[in-house]
Amino acid sequence: MTVKKIVSTCVYCGAGCQILFTVDDKANRIIDAEGAPGHSNDGTLCLKGRYGWDFLNDPQILTKRLTGPLVRRNGRSSPLEPAGWDEAVALVGDRLAQIKKESGPDSILCTGSARGPGNEANYVMQKFARACLGTNNVDHCARVCHAASVAGLLVSLGSGAMSLSVPEIEDAEVILNIGYNGPDSHPIVARRIVRARQKGCYVICADPRRTETARISQKHLQLKGGSNLALANSLANVIISEKLHDPDFVREHTKGFEELRTLVEKYSPERTAGITGLDPGEVRETARIYASSKHSVILWGMGVCQFSQGVEVVKGLANLGLLTGNFGRPSTGVGPVRGQNNVQGACDMGALPNYYPGYQSVSDPASREKFEKAWGVSLPDKPGLTLTRVPEFVLHPPDPGKKIRAYWIFGEDPAQSDAHLAEMRETLRKLDFVVVQDIYMNKTARFADVILPSTSWGEHEGVYSACDRAFQRVRKLVEPPAGVLTDWEIISRVSTHMGYPMKYKNAEEIWNELVGLCPSFYGATYEKLEKLGHVQWPCRSRDMSDAGTPYLHKNGLFATKDGLGVFSASEWRPPVEVENEEYPLTLSTVREVGHYSVRTMTGNCRTLRNLEDEPGWVQMNPALCESLQVGRGELVRVASARGWCLSRCLPTDRVRADAVYMTYQWWIGACNELTVGSLDPVSNTPEYKYCACRVEKIDDQAGAAKHVADEYQRLRLEMLVDPKGVGAGARGGLAA
Ligand code: SF4
Repeated sequence: MTVKKIVSTCVYCGAGCQILFTVDDKANRIIDAEGAPGHSNDGTLCLKGRYGWDFLNDPQILTKRLTGPLVRRNGRSSPLEPAGWDEAVALVGDRLAQIKKESGPDSILCTGSARGPGNEANYVMQKFARACLGTNNVDHCARVCHAASVAGLLVSLGSGAMSLSVPEIEDAEVILNIGYNGPDSHPIVARRIVRARQKGCYVICADPRRTETARISQKHLQLKGGSNLALANSLANVIISEKLHDPDFVREHTKGFEELRTLVEKYSPERTAGITGLDPGEVRETARIYASSKHSVILWGMGVCQFSQGVEVVKGLANLGLLTGNFGRPSTGVGPVRGQNNVQGACDMGALPNYYPGYQSVSDPASREKFEKAWGVSLPDKPGLTLTRVPEFVLHPPDPGKKIRAYWIFGEDPAQSDAHLAEMRETLRKLDFVVVQDIYMNKTARFADVILPSTSWGEHEGVYSACDRAFQRVRKLVEPPAGVLTDWEIISRVSTHMGYPMKYKNAEEIWNELVGLCPSFYGATYEKLEKLGHVQWPCRSRDMSDAGTPYLHKNGLFATKDGLGVFSASEWRPPVEVENEEYPLTLSTVREVGHYSVRTMTGNCRTLRNLEDEPGWVQMNPALCESLQVGRGELVRVASARGWCLSRCLPTDRVRADAVYMTYQWWIGACNELTVGSLDPVSNTPEYKYCACRVEKIDDQAGAAKHVADEYQRLRLEMLVDPKGVGAGARGGLAA
């Protein structure tokens, strides 16, 4: 056995932990993983980092690894069949060229991928969309998570990223976690919160559930779902009315204070108690504690962003930091903690409809001219379409000429992860051409005309961006299966076929091109990443000792055009769909620590897969269970105005009696059958955290259990490469 040791970056969350892998070179297998001394993890790992690499061995627990292209040769009702790369590339290139010719470049939308592919592949995909197709219709799953943070913070602070670094969290004096449950989403970040508390930090949790974060906090504000902005405005009200703000900081470094003061005047904790359900005294005390320190930090996650008012809440939280001067020093500021391992990176690389790489606006003539010159084309000047509006632009386009006809889905699974799944399935069926580029068969791939199999994390080189703007190398650990290509190579081959040649030799060559076009990334060379381990943007110098910028807005100089932080005040409004007689409860989607995203990776890791199985659980207050006469483990039917699914009852007093919670990775217990597609008007992020639902008791438990087993088997057959009717399962054509 030849053993080699390689350090790489974890593929599972934005904490960006460094892992030392032991690889049996001869057998081409990873045999062990342990924590390496990385910037954020300091040698520690959570269970996903420790055990989450087994999917590379293709154990085929959930689905099967894609090892060669699949195409439908005779239209959408024909089965997927194996094809060579030349045929698959030509099919994709010719069909996209035809659709572009018939309906224009804006009839096509491509996604980036926030998961394994890495920054270089995202750069190449957005370049393909813009330079080859001629559209800014490129987006990725940040749209369904932290797009609200980016949109809100860009207005308030001029930068949409975490203003501090993960290691700085442990030296904060006050941490307000709102809609953020680090122990489930980023366990190694949560470890920093625990350490902070051990060092004397006052930890506060604002969350409708009594989460693990609530358990490690001194104060838990168990607010009503959908009331975040009422709370943020109330905290601002107390800080201003009790004169707890920093008048010098406000005068010298901000604008818009008077407008904020006027708006939040009516948001006293006593007046908002009916909205938040919180004791006004507790809210006042929270504001006083937060404002008492110059090392106060606010951390948030999906419990802030996945609401139809997410952007306004983000601005409301930025207001608190601006009021109290909590920016521009170590261990202070705001932390929208990015979820997926490279969702920060996919944004950094411009897989967004309004930004080129490095957050250079497509509407800015100087930026556009720079990229036109570099890429040798003229570029569109209007921002593209967000991916959450694809259903609208397929099923009900504002005019027939604006229809989306082709969708290239790269490392995402909208048929499992997007809100209102029935509408998404209809959308996928109605599209003229669907390309799926992935490592595993997934629910979306069942609707594809062409499936392009790529190398996985662990099988290619590249760079990821951690949640705190740290670029880190990801390295090849094992050889990929024969028959797959790297993501950037697949996209480059299609581009070349379409007449816009891209002939990169390796990931480093792509990286060199992109950092040369992005002043904030210019100093982050491969050479420096090798030497220092990480570089945090902005990093403008190639001096080998410059590791970039650990915290932003130094000396109160914000990244806005005039350098001032901007107070931005909005009125609270209720979620779009509220409880009613037919659906008296609210549903919120949440995470669990053992599974990642739609589970195609963790569901194919033997250790992680054993933690839980279909159809997952619905968290219910014991009083609700009693009223419905259902007990732990009993199958229940959860329904909303859009659909239903089966789940298992999990009684827990950690949730309020008026709300239920489900994780979104299960196929049978697919809570996105229920979620609502209402979008934040600015970020276009769906309101995953709030819709009306009901839970029904099922008398025929044996029949329900059979349904779960049968449905699971049916889906597995559709997603496994079936020897009788390759790829499309027993029925051959597009999935039901
Ligand atoms: Fe991986 Fe995140 Fe766990 Fe670190 S905290 S090991 S990055 S999943």
